[in-house]
Amino acid sequence: MTTVAAYAVPAAKAPLERTTIERREVGEFDVLIDIKFAGICHSDIHQAREGWGEATFPMVPGHEIAGIVSEVGAGVTKYQVGDRVGVGCLVDSCRECESCKAGEEQYCTGGNVFTYNAIGKDGELTYGGYSQKVVVHENFVVRIPDALSLDVAAPLLCAGITTYSPLKHWNAGPGKKVAILGLGGLGHTGVKIAHALGAEVTVLSQSLRKKDDGLKLGADHYYATSDEQTFKDLQGSFDLILSTVSAPLDLGAFLSLLKRDGALVNVGAPEEPIALNLFSVIAGRKTLAGSMIGGIAETQEMLDFCAEHGFGAEVEVIRADQINEAYERVLSSDVRYRFVIDIATI
Ligand code: NAP
Ligand code: ZN
Ligand code: ZN
Repeated sequence: MTTVAAYAVPAAKAPLERTTIERREVGEFDVLIDIKFAGICHSDIHQAREGWGEATFPMVPGHEIAGIVSEVGAGVTKYQVGDRVGVGCLVDSCRECESCKAGEEQYCTGGNVFTYNAIGKDGELTYGGYSQKVVVHENFVVRIPDALSLDVAAPLLCAGITTYSPLKHWNAGPGKKVAILGLGGLGHTGVKIAHALGAEVTVLSQSLRKKDDGLKLGADHYYATSDEQTFKDLQGSFDLILSTVSAPLDLGAFLSLLKRDGALVNVGAPEEPIALNLFSVIAGRKTLAGSMIGGIAETQEMLDFCAEHGFGAEVEVIRADQINEAYERVLSSDVRYRFVIDIATI
């Protein structure tokens, strides 16, 4: 066991504080990673405050991990000491079910293991990236291309793959009108990726405050959802709407913005249920769908895609003692566009 410093949530809704945790010995197929940067995802906050239901404490959040390999097990073939690597939301899965065989480990039915707030195959609680080191099986580690610096790469491990996967699955590309709903951590990577895929991109944000940024990120159009005129102007406009909103929404109003056969794909994970009049999907043969992160191979594909197109996330690098303040800023939609913790400051 190795003792490492970390930031943990000691109990539901309590502020994070510095502590130490134990990391397991490096096993035959394990990689030891010196974590350099960890992104703050809104999912960290939902879980730290038990917004999604009961959680396990102490909790070390963080599933947007970028670092350098510092040791490998004897059986590891994919990585060497010194490699630049990342870890996202998953650290294990059953490897045998239909989803695992299809490379969709995020939908594993045999029991996958999330990077934190979960029980690992060794029976121990998993701890995430707000810590100095992590030990992960090589199959759940991805390579960060040289073209991406580690701080801007970190958020791609969750925000990037969570938007890339559905954009690809629902064929965002040339000739397609795609709306990204919510311009936060996920939303801003969604805009960059949809633009790089060749789609015509519209941002739907609560206000026009971030319009200049949205256009610079690659959006062609930008509308405020607080303006009723937006819903009149954009009726029946989109092939695909990707909702990244973390709070309950009037989904019916957004479904009305789809063309016939359009799809509203939800990746936002609000804490409360949402009521919906089903005529919103009946009329126009529309699809309301969801999507969760992405598989390991697709995560690697996404990192390579972002590197090829020359972009990472837009980040505000913070010290570890600023995490609690950053959580408050995320909750008030005051994030431009991902907080990333400099792990050297833990
Ligand atoms: P974030 O940075 O806080 O962005 C969410 C954005 O939603 C905000 O920037 C804001 O955009 C908009 N928003 C927030 N409150 C709103 C409200 N009351 N009404 C309308 N719009 C509102 O969060 P994130 O890290 O991108 O995560 C977004 C959501 O996705 C969270 O629920 C998170 O748990 C979930 N998530 C899901 C997956 C998955 O696999 N499906 C993966 C990661 C995260 P504007 O300021 O532009 O309006
Ligand atoms: Zn996340
Ligand atoms: Zn499986």
